[in-house]
Amino acid sequence: MLSGVVADREAEWWEAGSRGLSSGLPAGRNSARFRRQSLDCPTPTFYEWAVTFASATPPWLQIWLEAGREGQVFTYANSAETPAGIGDLVRVRLQGRLHTGLVVEALDQLPASLSGKTIQPILAIWQRAAVDPQWQGLIESVAESCHTSLFKTLKSALPPGWLGQRSQGPSRTSRPIWLVERSAAPLPSQPLTPRQQQLLAHLERQAAPLPLRQLCSAGGYSRAVLKGLEARGLVVRRSGSLPGCGSAGLPAAAWPALTTAQAAAVQALAGAGPGAAFLLWGVTGAGKTEVYLQAAARALAAGEGCLLLTPEIGLIPQLLDRARERFGSRVVEFHSGLADGARVATWRRCLEEEPVVVVGTRSAIFLPMPRLGLIVLDEEHDSSYKQDSPMPCYHARDVARLRARRSGARLVLGSATPSLESWLACQGPQASTRLLRLPDRIGARPLPAVRVIDMRHELAEGHRRLLSRALMGRLEQLQEKGEQAVVLVPRRGYRAFLSCRSCGEAVLCPHCDVALTVHRSKGGQEWLRCHWCDHRAELGDRCGHCGSTAFKPFGAGTQRVMEQLASELEGLRLLRFDRDTTRGRDGHRRLLDRFAQGEADVLVGTQMLAKGMDLPRVTLAAVLAADGLLHRPDLRSSEQCLQLLLQLAGRAGRGEKPGEVLVQTYSPDHPVIRHLVDGRYEQFLAEESQLRRQAGLVPFSRACLLRLSGPTASGTATAAAALAERIRGELEAAGWLLIGPAPAPVARVAGKSRWQLLLHGPAGQPLPLPSEAVLRQGLPAGVGLAIDPDPLTL
Ligand code: ADP
Ligand code: ZN
Ligand code: ZN
Repeated sequence: MLSGVVADREAEWWEAGSRGLSSGLPAGRNSARFRRQSLDCPTPTFYEWAVTFASATPPWLQIWLEAGREGQVFTYANSAETPAGIGDLVRVRLQGRLHTGLVVEALDQLPASLSGKTIQPILAIWQRAAVDPQWQGLIESVAESCHTSLFKTLKSALPPGWLGQRSQGPSRTSRPIWLVERSAAPLPSQPLTPRQQQLLAHLERQAAPLPLRQLCSAGGYSRAVLKGLEARGLVVRRSGSLPGCGSAGLPAAAWPALTTAQAAAVQALAGAGPGAAFLLWGVTGAGKTEVYLQAAARALAAGEGCLLLTPEIGLIPQLLDRARERFGSRVVEFHSGLADGARVATWRRCLEEEPVVVVGTRSAIFLPMPRLGLIVLDEEHDSSYKQDSPMPCYHARDVARLRARRSGARLVLGSATPSLESWLACQGPQASTRLLRLPDRIGARPLPAVRVIDMRHELAEGHRRLLSRALMGRLEQLQEKGEQAVVLVPRRGYRAFLSCRSCGEAVLCPHCDVALTVHRSKGGQEWLRCHWCDHRAELGDRCGHCGSTAFKPFGAGTQRVMEQLASELEGLRLLRFDRDTTRGRDGHRRLLDRFAQGEADVLVGTQMLAKGMDLPRVTLAAVLAADGLLHRPDLRSSEQCLQLLLQLAGRAGRGEKPGEVLVQTYSPDHPVIRHLVDGRYEQFLAEESQLRRQAGLVPFSRACLLRLSGPTASGTATAAAALAERIRGELEAAGWLLIGPAPAPVARVAGKSRWQLLLHGPAGQPLPLPSEAVLRQGLPAGVGLAIDPDPLTL
C-alpha cells in the first residue's frame, strides 16, 4: 500500500534549521520554520508566522511524528475546512496506523523531492495550540543547556503517549475528603479524656464539618482521640466535599492564621518583582506548605497558574490532598503514577482559560501555562529533581529558574536542608535568590533530640544484634504509649547480599558489577536478584570461588529487619515501606494511610521514609546503619547524608508529643554525625562550601559526564578513547580538563559495558563541546552516548 507519506529526512534538520542553517532545504521553507527566537535574527517568531498562516491556510504541513529514535518529520496536506497551524497536535495516518504529531512547520510549496507523490491529508486536530512560543523558547533553552536535540527535549516534555500511536482519552481520579463533625448524641456518663473533651469542644464551635486532615495535622489531634469519640457516637465521619465550597475549596476564613514568619514570607512573595527567586528555609513542620498554599491563592486570585513540585511520587498524595482541600477542583496532578491519558488531560487543563494549581514531580516543570504566577519546588535539595536518563539530563531546579525568568513567575525553593547551591545563591551583595526563614515549628513543637548509639560499644559488650539495646528499649514502649516509630534501613531486600566468610567474595550479577541481593517471598522461598538489570538467580549453598559453605548474608535489608523485630519484640506490629511494597499507582499512599490509621507501630523502610511525610503519632525515628550512608565515595555524600538524616529527624515529633532520633553507627565522630547532633546545618554548609571552594569542586567548578555504553567492554573502551581524542583539543583550549576514559562505577548493566569521560571546567562556562549529533557521528554502531551536564553523582 502506498502510504502517500514520504519521510522527508532525518529529524536533525529541524535542529539545524533552528540554528539558522538552510542547506538542502527547498525554497520557501525558511519562512515558516519553527525557529529560534534569537536576538541576532530579525525573522518573525513562529507565532507571528502561525498567525499569518492561519489566515492564508498553508497547504502543506511538516509534522513531527514519533518514528525511530529521534522522531521524524513528514509532510502532510493541510485541511481546507479546519486548517492546522504550527504548535497544533494533529491526527494522521503513517504506514496505515494512526499517530498524533506536532505541526512544526507550514509550507506554501511542496518540497521538490515530494512533487508528483500522493500526500495524505491530516485527519483531525487533536489539540490546538498545544505549545506556544514562550514554551517553545523554554524547550530550546533547555535543549541547549542540556546539550541535546530539540526533539529529545520535546519528547521528554510532552506527556507520554500523546505524540505517537497511542492516545488514550482523559481519565479522572479523585479521592474523597474525610469530613468530621459533632453528632447529635448527648454526652455519655463515662468521663472523656481531656484531649477528647478538647476535640469535642473544638468541633462544637465549628459551623461546618472539618476536614479530618486538618484536625489531625494542623489541630494536632491524634486519630486515636478521634476514634475514641467516634466509637461512642459523639462524632461522625463521612466522605464528601465541603458544603457550599466543594469544588471551590476551603473559604479563606477557614485557612489557618499565619504565624509572623509565615506572613512575612507570603508578603515578601507578593511584593516581589517578576521572576524573583526565593529560598524558603524552615525546619520540617515550620509551615512551609502553608506558605506555598497562600502564595498560590494569591496567584490564582490574580488569574495566574501555579506549579507545586515535589521530588518523589510518594509525596504527591499529601500535597495533593492539602491543595485540593484548599483549592478544590482547580488542582490537577502530573506525575508518572498517572495514566498517559490523565497526563494529557492535565496538559489540556493547563491550556484552558481558568488558572490551575498543578501538583507534580519534576516533569511537571514543562507543563504549558500561558499565565504562570508561581513555581514552588518543595524539598529543593532532593536529587530526584535531576533527570539522569534519558536525555535531556536536566535539573528541574535549573529549568524552574529559567522558566521563572522567562515567564515572570515567582520561584520558591523550599527546604529544611537547602542544597549548597541554593544556599550560596543567597549569599553576597549580588545574591540572585532571597532567603526567607521560618525559624520555628508550628505550635513551638520542639525539634527531636538526637541520640547517637556507638555500635562499637554494643559489639564490645557482646551485643551483636542489628538493633541496639537502646533502640529495642524504645520500641518496646511504643504500644503502651500509643506512639509510632519509623526505622530507616538504607537498603532494600531480605538481606543485602551474600558473601563468603572464607574468601570474602560476594555473589555478583553476571551482567553488572553489583552484588545480587537476597529476596524472599511470603512462603519463605529465597532467590537472588539484581537491582540494576533484574537478573534473577537461585541461591546456592556453596561459594562459587572457593567452595566454602560458610556462606552468609551480609548487611541487612528491610525484610531482615522486619524479621528480627518480629522475633524479638512479640506483638509489635510492623509495616514495610520500600519499592517492593509500594508498587502501583497508589502504593505509597495506601501504605502510608494504613500506617497513619494505626495499623502498625513501626514503619520499616528505605530512604523514601525520610521524605516529607506528616505522621503526627511518630515520636521515634531510627537509623539502623548510618555507616553505609556516611562512607559513599562521592563528593556530595556528606551533604546528602546530613540532609537525609535531618529529614528523617523531621519525621519525629510532629504531633502532640516530642520526638527522638536514634542513630546507630560505628563512626560517631564523623562530622556529619556531629552536625546532626548539634543541629547546626548552616554551620555545616559554611564549612562544606569552604572545603569545596579550596578544592575547586562543584559548585565552584563545572563538571559534565559523557557516558558511553556498548555490547563489549573493549569496543566501548575504544570508542570512549577515540571520542576523548576528538574533543580533547577544544576542551583544553577552553581551559577544561578531560578525565578518563574510565569504566563507570558500575561497569556493566544489563549486559552492556559502560565507560565514561569526565569533563571539568570553570564554573558558569558553557560546555566546550560540539553538538550531540556531531559527538555521535564518530561512534561505532551499537555504542550509545549520554551527555550529562552537572551530574549529581560521578
Ligand atoms: P512544612 O511544610 O514546613 O513541613 P507544614 O506547612 O506542613 O510545614 O505545617 C506543619 C503543620 O502545621 C501542618 O499540619 C499544617 O497544617 C500546620 N500549620 C501550618 N501553618 C499553620 C498555622 N499558621 N497555624 C496552624 N497550623 C499551621
Ligand atoms: Zn569463598
Ligand atoms: Zn544485573
